[in-house]
Amino acid sequence: MIFLFKIGFLEVSWIDILDIVLVAGLLYNVYKLMRGSVAIKIFLGFLSLYLIYLMVRAAQMELLSSILGQFMGVGVLAMIILFTPELRKFLLMIGKSAPTSFDNLFKSIFYRKTDRDSIYNVSAIIEACKTLGGTNTGALLVISKSSELRFYAESGDNIDADLSKRLLISIFNKYSPLHDGAVIIYKGRIKAARSVLPVSESDALPPNLGLRHRAAVGMTEITDTLVVVVSEETGQISTAKNGFLAQNLSVKELRFTINNYLFEDGGATEESRIEQLAKSQKIDAPDPLLKETTS
Ligand code: ATP
Ligand code: MG
Repeated sequence: MIFLFKIGFLEVSWIDILDIVLVAGLLYNVYKLMRGSVAIKIFLGFLSLYLIYLMVRAAQMELLSSILGQFMGVGVLAMIILFTPELRKFLLMIGKSAPTSFDNLFKSIFYRKTDRDSIYNVSAIIEACKTLGGTNTGALLVISKSSELRFYAESGDNIDADLSKRLLISIFNKYSPLHDGAVIIYKGRIKAARSVLPVSESDALPPNLGLRHRAAVGMTEITDTLVVVVSEETGQISTAKNGFLAQNLSVKELRFTINNYLFEDGGATEESRIEQLAKSQKIDAPDPLLKETTS
């Protein structure tokens, strides 16, 4: 072992420095993952107990260290039970960048994105949200680019229709039997309506926000989706991504957020995608241009 320097009786090597840096990185990522949730308090409690255990053991206090040792012995199991949602999030975070299935792996190796995949009628979503906001009609839209979200889609009613402004407005109409819950949009199609989303337990959210906004945040905490919320109370449009809520967006900001999420890789402009879509599917192309004013 090559020693780097000495602090009193402590001999510090390169490996120790690497170890400390890696542990610091790991702890920072764990903190980022748990920030704002009650889990952080439990985690800090557990960490303090572990530090006390290390000190007690170093001081050779037999009785106390054996009692704390019992706690630490079941620690891993207790952590798995207590932090199940956080562990899911952590594993999802790691898995997000990896191809999700053999099919996707095959596609990612042999194909670039096909035209059909990159075609998306984003304007239908934006126009619908603008109209819904203008009439103070509540709405919840989950936009997914990497997963069909079958589990959540099956909690509601199956639809599988082309994206259109009129359909979205009809679904969220207060008198529609489909208006409660969320719409799921995948690959430019409305897959389901009335879906139930997981509700966030974060205590960092403003207390005036109700279940619709909490469900939007909760969904993006555990999935790689973008959720758009239209508030029934204020008519304001918000988006949630990675567990963070951006409130009171203008139409322009909404368009930017959706495009940024769907087409991060750049490529063709949205207008050209809509033109391709209209040509290939003969759908009702959206009104030519939106007036992008702050609503
Ligand atoms: P708003 O500003 O529109 O009032 P809010 O955040 O205050 O939104 P609530 O008033 O509690 O939320 O909205 C209730 C509506 O949110 C329900 O009628 C339902 O349609 C939807 N909702 C609530 N929880 C969920 C959930 N877990 N999954 C999907 N939709 C939900
Ligand atoms: Mg409310």
